[in-house]
Amino acid sequence: MSAPFFTPGPGPVQITREAIAARIRDLGQRISDDYGTEPLHLICVLNGAFPFTADLMRAIQRPLTLDFLSVSSYGSRTETSGEVRLVKDLDQSLKGKHVLLVEDIIDTGLTMQYLLGYLQGRGPLSVRVASLLSKPARRLVEVPIHYLGFEIEDAYVYGYGLDIDHRYRNLPFVTSLRLGEDAS
Ligand code: 5GP
Repeated sequence: MSAPFFTPGPGPVQITREAIAARIRDLGQRISDDYGTEPLHLICVLNGAFPFTADLMRAIQRPLTLDFLSVSSYGSRTETSGEVRLVKDLDQSLKGKHVLLVEDIIDTGLTMQYLLGYLQGRGPLSVRVASLLSKPARRLVEVPIHYLGFEIEDAYVYGYGLDIDHRYRNLPFVTSLRLGEDAS
């Protein structure tokens, strides 16, 4: 039985749960190889990145620690103003840690630029970025992505942690609206 809720959207970006799982296995392997025995500290950017973080951390075959933070951007959903506000701060210190920041999607790059500045100011040994998705056509500032799941075209995506007005985060795949289609 397939409930209507699990029907993919009409947009151009469609990433199946199998494709997500396979990509995460590869990323987990690369991260495990790259960090070797160095202690790794994952930071999950709530709320969207939590399914990705949960799957990615189990694909990393190394000891690691985990923390969470949450930010919100001012402005409308489709036009980021660039002003980012910390809504939930980290619980653990970053001193002496190799940090891997885990994000759901990098769009304009403004949120990531803010996050990198914030984390660098807290004394980590290193900071790298893992993002499930990237929309390079929308970029306003260049930011590094060391571990990328999928590069996608410009469309509003949802599912697998990404929402439309707080809904659809539990879809097991990533799907999308047509460009210009109202996301509400
Ligand atoms: P940026 O600062 O890079 O423009 O935007 C980053 C944030 O905007 C992401 O963490 C995400 O919350 C939101 N975002 C950007 N594009 C999309 C999208 O296509 N779908 C959803 N659900 N959120 C998006």
